[in-house]
Amino acid sequence: MKKKKRSWAEPYKIKTVELIEMKDLKEREEAIVEAGFNTFLLKSKDVYIDLLTDSGTSAMSDLQWAAMMRGDESYAGSKNFYELEDTVKKFYGYKHLVPTHQGRGAENIMSQILIKKGDFIPGNMYFTTTRLHQEMAGGQFIDVIVDEAHDPENTFPFKGNVDIEKMQELVDRVGADRVPYISLEGNVNMAGGQPFSIANLKELHAFCKKHNILIMLDATRTVENAYFIKIQEKGYEDKSIEEILLEICSYTDGCTISAKKDCLVNIGGFFACNDDEIYRRAQNLVVIYEGLHTYGGLAGRDMAAMAQGIRESVMFEHQQARVGQVKYLGEQIRDYGVPIVEPVGSHAIFLNAGKILSHLDQDEYPAQTLSAELYIENGIRSMERGNVSAGRDPGTGQNRRPKLELIRLTIPRRVYTQAHMDVVAESVAAVYERRKNIKGLEMTYEPEYLRFFQSRFKRKK
Ligand SMILES: *Cc1c(COP(=O)(O)O)cnc(C)c1O
Repeated sequence: MKKKKRSWAEPYKIKTVELIEMKDLKEREEAIVEAGFNTFLLKSKDVYIDLLTDSGTSAMSDLQWAAMMRGDESYAGSKNFYELEDTVKKFYGYKHLVPTHQGRGAENIMSQILIKKGDFIPGNMYFTTTRLHQEMAGGQFIDVIVDEAHDPENTFPFKGNVDIEKMQELVDRVGADRVPYISLEGNVNMAGGQPFSIANLKELHAFCKKHNILIMLDATRTVENAYFIKIQEKGYEDKSIEEILLEICSYTDGCTISAKKDCLVNIGGFFACNDDEIYRRAQNLVVIYEGLHTYGGLAGRDMAAMAQGIRESVMFEHQQARVGQVKYLGEQIRDYGVPIVEPVGSHAIFLNAGKILSHLDQDEYPAQTLSAELYIENGIRSMERGNVSAGRDPGTGQNRRPKLELIRLTIPRRVYTQAHMDVVAESVAAVYERRKNIKGLEMTYEPEYLRFFQSRFKRKK
């Protein structure tokens, strides 16, 4: 008799489907050459399973679509703004809300308000747009994540934690008055979707209070972080995701968020905070870059869908299936012997391209190469997170050559089935088998900012 087990299943049934098509091998090869071996430049019609990002790619629920019909498209004071403000207050706990068109809009506003030229901004690993806005405001990013996060094989369960000693070193070196805030990210994207623990956050909170440093949360995946706390931090087993989320936010002073992730919408973001003066300045800046402070670059219907998405995001069954599907894919890939970042995080499987293509120099862009090969193999679109994403050091002008040279297979929320995950794992295994014959890439075009989006490559001879 088969071993008894209890599986989870998706907490929804499917009402609408979108057909997808697999191009043949010759067409895929032509498409990747035309895209300059950059998966960001592929046309989505040429992609079979799209794991480029979990950003804005979620399937909305019937309740979210219904909410969109209730969009109040008044220029000023839309009722959807006040609903969203109440929802953010209820689930994240912040007093003030400034909507933005997406996460980077909020990052721009916050960086301009809080950073002075010559300041230092510590963070639990960088995020591309976040760091760029810090630099553009005159700040310098300092990585203070625990060392475990830089080791793709270390299975420490809270690789998103802040190393308080690194905070202390920074404060000793530059003085606390040059450190306006720490940028604290939930389920750290660039580390593989790894959570911080509440115990670590409490310690950080005490440290920051002592030195008068604000904690600004990048709350983009903090609901997922709350789920991880529930399932793996002692003392939190019996708390709801909702309670844990509120507790996390209570130790922070405000947040930026890309609502295109946790919040289950296709577009949107916001800045939120408790301080009245910071709010007043954010309200003033948002009209320059985004729109009036009651819509911030969003339609009323977008805010309505976001409020409903936030309510759905904290449901246990949703996170269990979301994180469960990612874990399932990770297990399939690991079973083929392919090196991945451990432990598996919330939103993606990261393949260790540096190890898989260890015969390539890092300046031959192993991760960019692997990502192109996976597309050629079976029409699967992934993303580079390595030397190309890390960019050049503004001081030396050299490639940053980060420790982690990865590709990310990012799972959109509520979009693909377990059968899709099986196909993905089999394709990864097929590329892995022929890895020794894979040649590296050479960059032929490099844009000035966030080069990974638009740079172009050709195969090395
Ligand atoms: C996506 C993302 C952002 C930027 O948000 P956009 O909505 O893409 O502008 C910022 N921080 C993290 C951690 C993200 O994943």
